Amino acid sequence: MTAVTETGYDQALTAIARRIDGANFIDGTWQQADTTERITVFNPSTGGELGRVPASTPADVAGAVEAARRAQPGWAALTPGRRSKLLLDVAAAIEARLPEFSYVEAIDAGKPLQVVVDEELPGVVDAMRFFAGAARTLPAPAGGDYLDGVTSIMRREPLGVIAGITPWNYPLLQAVAKVFPALATGNTFVLKPAETTPYSTALLAEAIAEQLPPGVFNVVFGTGAVAGDALTRHPAVAAVSFTGSIETGRRVGAAAADGVKKSIMELGGNSPVLVFDDADLESALDAIAAGGLYNTGQECMAASRVIAHSSIVDAVVEGLKVRCEREKVGDILDPATTIGPMNSLAQRDRVLDKIAGRSPGARIVTGGGIVEGPGYLLAPTVVTDVRDDEELVVEEIFGPVFTVQSFDSEDDALAKANGTRYGLAASVFTTDVGRAQRVQNALNFGTVWVNNHLVFAADLPVSGFGASGVGTENAELGLLEFTRLKHVMVDTR
Ligand code: ADP
Repeated sequence: MTAVTETGYDQALTAIARRIDGANFIDGTWQQADTTERITVFNPSTGGELGRVPASTPADVAGAVEAARRAQPGWAALTPGRRSKLLLDVAAAIEARLPEFSYVEAIDAGKPLQVVVDEELPGVVDAMRFFAGAARTLPAPAGGDYLDGVTSIMRREPLGVIAGITPWNYPLLQAVAKVFPALATGNTFVLKPAETTPYSTALLAEAIAEQLPPGVFNVVFGTGAVAGDALTRHPAVAAVSFTGSIETGRRVGAAAADGVKKSIMELGGNSPVLVFDDADLESALDAIAAGGLYNTGQECMAASRVIAHSSIVDAVVEGLKVRCEREKVGDILDPATTIGPMNSLAQRDRVLDKIAGRSPGARIVTGGGIVEGPGYLLAPTVVTDVRDDEELVVEEIFGPVFTVQSFDSEDDALAKANGTRYGLAASVFTTDVGRAQRVQNALNFGTVWVNNHLVFAADLPVSGFGASGVGTENAELGLLEFTRLKHVMVDTR
């Protein structure tokens, strides 16, 4: 465990906030935005102001895309090995500044600092290294003589300029999962981070610019409706990589389709967690509690919708209640804290509204309201006796909330699990190997954990089935999304 004291790093946060007040990172430097309009960034732990970012205009976006367009041919001309080396250098530089990056991320997003230091930032650096290396071994169909008198050659090429639009739950991790596979495969990039969490992306931009040519990675701040939309629609943007809500994803996808460009979208989830009566209940409950409460439940794969066999449902409710009440909610700088605030007042209100909208028969077993203290704190919550079709059950909650349903048979369990428009992730807890296989085969979700939940590595694919998205992030497939395959046929006669 690396100990992090806030002195010094607090100054780093103040300094980056000052550098980006009114500016975007374009062509390797901070450039003043074309507007005096600003978006205030708040500290989720105090409600106080952290700083301001420009509400950038389409002209700002165009400047960033132009810089990326200019830089792209030169960047693509480097060998994969050379690009990989430069990206590995960025990873090493960020690893050397891990406490500072962690502090900025923890304060801006409202995450327990020690968790960011021990888990999130090491994961970010590991993802950087995975993408940097994997781009050197991309697959393609074999070249060869498929017709008489000709030889075919396959070339895997970059798409060009990629637009990225990121959410606020994992600002740096989401940025890296889009930017690194795109850069590693020879694309250049313009990223618009979420309004409430700009700072780690700003530090990333500076760190990349210290190793890579100017214009390869650019950041434009602003609203989704103006800067995000202008970026998606810019004619020089070849593809859009988006993570956020279904409603916004639909708009982004439509804007991309309008320009006949590719979109890769990860649009949230509502993960069913099936607990069979033969499960090892104590370890299942530990995994579910961890998987549902990590990042204050602001996680698209959160273990939020627990569906337990009717013979054990009371034990599951009680076990989750005990675990929720054990959590330490509050000060993110206290190493004992396990649950920080919600990222914004708006998000806390959204979750409180969803809880308030539960069906009349639903029962709050623990939590259900705010926790007194500074910041946007919300108590870990368990709601049971819910209806299978109510909003709290079938829609994404994005907060520290479990709903508990029960089932009587395997078919009943699967019908309930699959009874949602989302298809991002699910888990099944059982000690019966045959049942685990049957159930995972029948679940309509891009990730299925057996006897676990919310365990990741950049090596492994994340695909949203159903309304949860289009395309794949991470793994080899995540890199291929940013490439196109050219077939060259040479007449040999
Ligand atoms: P939230 O409602 O929690 O902010 P969103 O899905 O709306 O979640 O936001 C995710 C990201 O999408 C943010 O960076 C946001 O600014 C951006 N965004 C919102 N609307 C649009 C849009 N119309 N076009 C492009 N990006 C958008």
